[in-house]
Amino acid sequence: MAVPKTAALPLGYAPAGPPPIAATATKKRGGRIGACSAVSAPARSDSEPTALDCDRFSRDPVPATTMYIGHFAPALAASAATPDAPRLGTLFVAAQLVDLAFFAFVIMGVENMRVVPGIIAMNPMDLYHMPYTHSLLGATLWGLGFGLAVLAVTRNLTAGIWAAVVVASHWLLDLLVHRPDLTLDGGPQKLGLGLWDYPLLAIPLELALIGLGFWLFLRNSRGPVGPPLILVAVMLLFQAVNWFAPQPEEMSIALPLVALLSYAILVALARWVGTTRRHRRAAGLAMARYRR
Ligand SMILES: [Zn+2]
Repeated sequence: MAVPKTAALPLGYAPAGPPPIAATATKKRGGRIGACSAVSAPARSDSEPTALDCDRFSRDPVPATTMYIGHFAPALAASAATPDAPRLGTLFVAAQLVDLAFFAFVIMGVENMRVVPGIIAMNPMDLYHMPYTHSLLGATLWGLGFGLAVLAVTRNLTAGIWAAVVVASHWLLDLLVHRPDLTLDGGPQKLGLGLWDYPLLAIPLELALIGLGFWLFLRNSRGPVGPPLILVAVMLLFQAVNWFAPQPEEMSIALPLVALLSYAILVALARWVGTTRRHRRAAGLAMARYRR
């Protein structure tokens, strides 16, 4: 459901104040928004603290992050599509580049999130200010930049295009599951179909996506099956923690740090898996040469 459009705002400008749903969700449970609700809905001015500034020093343990393993399905599918696709580790970075940038920006105070228990069924994250990473324009630009970087390194246009497509796919997948907190260009109109409010739909969808991705990957590559199985097991473990562990009740710096660490682990594992398997067309070519 879209928030009614008001006057157009420039990219990067957050409308002052939180979406009304946040306050409602918090009030219902009688809780607080973050560690100091009075300033947790910041207007973007240099003098005012951000939500993270406000909550930065909270020391509460943070057992879960907002990870979403379905994002890696396009990376696996791209790797399956052509031997010219970037390596699997690079594609895993592409799949979550937008979130990597988001969590880094949260730590820097450039973009903002906070914890609002009950805001949506499957996690308590109110991602209320992310114009540079989770706007369609922003995600497209991140994709273009990453695609150009891959093109510069590999000198392979196909690799660059797949890298860019996988980065941009992040926004479309987020559109399915997020509550309306995404934008087209950082403006006030918020988009999101909110599947995270329907666990019985969202969980099977995510498992189906990642299952399809791994099926394509295994079908179109040759090599030992152990490494991809280890990768999928770790991904499912992380996702299970995300879904079923107690949710954080307050924002803290640990939350984006844990998210970045978990992505780093998955990227390292994917990089390793990529070294153990070859695309079936590349493997066939190598075998033909060997026979000659
Ligand atoms: Zn995202």
